[in-house]
Amino acid sequence: MRDGGRRLARIPGSSRIGPGMPAIPLLAAAAALAVVAGAPGVAGVGGVAGAQASSGAQEGPVSLEGVVDLHVHAGPDSRPRSVDDIEAARAARDAGLRAILLKNHFTMTADRAALAMGQVEGIEIFGGVVLNRAVGGINPEAVRQMATFSGGRGKVVWLPTFDAEHYVTAAGGGASYVPILAGGEPLPAVLEVFALIAEHDLTLAMGHSGPGEVLRLIPEAKRLGVRRILVTHVFSQGATRDQMRQMVDEGALLEIDWLAVHTGGRTIDDYVSAIRALGAGAFFLSSDLGQEGNPLHAEGLRDYIRALREAGVGDEEIDVMARRNPARLLGLDPW
Ligand SMILES: [Zn+2]
Repeated sequence: MRDGGRRLARIPGSSRIGPGMPAIPLLAAAAALAVVAGAPGVAGVGGVAGAQASSGAQEGPVSLEGVVDLHVHAGPDSRPRSVDDIEAARAARDAGLRAILLKNHFTMTADRAALAMGQVEGIEIFGGVVLNRAVGGINPEAVRQMATFSGGRGKVVWLPTFDAEHYVTAAGGGASYVPILAGGEPLPAVLEVFALIAEHDLTLAMGHSGPGEVLRLIPEAKRLGVRRILVTHVFSQGATRDQMRQMVDEGALLEIDWLAVHTGGRTIDDYVSAIRALGAGAFFLSSDLGQEGNPLHAEGLRDYIRALREAGVGDEEIDVMARRNPARLLGLDPW
């Protein structure tokens, strides 16, 4: 197995790669850096190089060492969850994950992540806030407070999800939603939130916004100094291949989640085709699990990586999507 020994020897949670430990395959790392930096047209390098470099390395057992899951649901919640935050963190740690990001649609998780960090050693636990109606919608004060909570675990601000205009109108019917644009222009509160994200070096997640909204907002966020942008489960938001390419060219990283495949909304071939077209450097894997009745996060990720390998995706590409890109989105050093 490719450098499995060194990976296993690393201390979970330690984020430094010392001199003399060239843990990053250079081409893949360059591709990931280029995407984060927003350099257009370079994202494909990681995919091609990874596919060539790792052929024949896909046989062994799936290791989750160093993997980062940026989409972990857990209780307490107003939706049924199979485990609570601490149980989710323990299970992820036991499976070898490096870090998880707790996501709750209705309440902030920076405090919960800090409490979980006190209970579970050997894994990094982060949180954030989703700007749905439960926290007042696009509410800069919610972001300001989240960013300054003790423990420093608040890292990500999601635009509205279940209360997003795109989601509510596409889901057919809800009258109440949280707008982010008016007449095609970002609302002042959205820009204020972007400025706060930049000020506190947080990561912007696009929530359940429509692809058109995402493309309108990415340049605004960058103009205000936002350094890391992720597009929440980009397939479920209905982005076309061309829109995905534009998002990547603008420097965003695109989330492809296992839940959508697990529940049959997408196929692994949908993802693989996009990875082949845009390069692994454009994407990151997440579980989006935690729902009652579904597999736990790590189990889903293991199935996910196995399915990608079976579809011909190389371990170098999986490294970029499961380890390096999500680590960068949390501001962690690359694995
Ligand atoms: Zn989710």
